[in-house]
Amino acid sequence: MYRCDACGNKTRFDVVERTRVRAYLHFTLGGEASVEEEELLEREVERVSCRWCGSSDEVVTEAPPGNGGAGTPGTPR
Ligand SMILES: [Zn+2]
Repeated sequence: MYRCDACGNKTRFDVVERTRVRAYLHFTLGGEASVEEEELLEREVERVSCRWCGSSDEVVTEAPPGNGGAGTPGTPR
C-alpha cells in the first residue's frame, strides 16, 4: 500500500515498474501464440507518484491494514 503525505491520497497512484517474466507460450501450427503460464521472476518498482497531486517525493509505503503476516509490534498508529 502507498500513502501520499502531501494530500492524504491512499488509493490512486501511478506506478512505474520493471518486471521480468518467464512465459510458457503455446503456439498453434497456424502461428498464433497464447500464454499458458507465467512466472514472475523479478519485479522492481521504479517510481510511484500520486494520482491526485502528482507528487512522488511525498509518497510513502504503508503496511496494509489487518494481519499481513509480517507484523511489527509497536508500530505507531
Ligand atoms: Zn498526493
